[in-house]
Amino acid sequence: MEKVFLSRFPESFYVWKEVIGRSLSDLWLQDELSRSEKKLLSLGLRCYWAGFPLPYLTGEARFAERIFKVRPGVFLPRQESEVLLEAAEKEIPSNSKVLEIGTGTGAVIISLLLNRADLKGVGLEISSKAAELACENACFYQIGSRLKVINQDFESFSGEKFQAIVCNPPYLSFYEIMALPFSVRYYEPREALDGGESGLEFYYKLSEKVRELLFSGGLLLVEVGKRQSDMVKEVFSPFMSWEKSYFDGLGVERVLVFRLR
Ligand code: GLN
Repeated sequence: MEKVFLSRFPESFYVWKEVIGRSLSDLWLQDELSRSEKKLLSLGLRCYWAGFPLPYLTGEARFAERIFKVRPGVFLPRQESEVLLEAAEKEIPSNSKVLEIGTGTGAVIISLLLNRADLKGVGLEISSKAAELACENACFYQIGSRLKVINQDFESFSGEKFQAIVCNPPYLSFYEIMALPFSVRYYEPREALDGGESGLEFYYKLSEKVRELLFSGGLLLVEVGKRQSDMVKEVFSPFMSWEKSYFDGLGVERVLVFRLR
């Protein structure tokens, strides 16, 4: 039975290996499995074929060469966001206190603080599930002393100012949500993806709030969707000057850097 699965669905090699933690060659040569392995494998394959994202099955996702714990209900870190990390690493001045809005698993802010030992951070996260996970990841990487995770929505957050804000907001439009692959549309949290009809709603809310959260001259680094950059520049133009953009590997203008005037 294993061989039929394996030859018909090459992707299942990967599930097999990840789910039961054995190498493919072992499996092929030994051709024997315990009952619990069989159970786990068949559950894993059924979930996977139903579109369930693999990182939720294995409990781990890779981001910028590190592994982060993930869990269903929490948005999975994306490769595009490595551009946000790269921009933040390069642009944020020394010894800054950085706010991340919508921390999710914590992958971006944790990677940033690990790569820049001079920075301190606050991760704001509206979902309690995600905030808990971000704390676990921060604890795993032992940066609890430099990162505070707060389970709160950014609109009601106040009383503190920062030198820089980083954010990967929900930016997909209604049509893009409809066109998402099944595995994203049905299994990942909608609130991390859905930017309203135009995809820009979160940016408008953010633009209302940044002045309160940034010191004057402070930086805002935001991830944007395909073909959104000009519209997002427009949204922030009343209070912020666009300074530069970072592009992803496909040439998409992916991260915008603004400075508060
Ligand atoms: N880039 C993500 C995706 O296509 C969307 C992320 C977001 O809305 N922030 O799944």
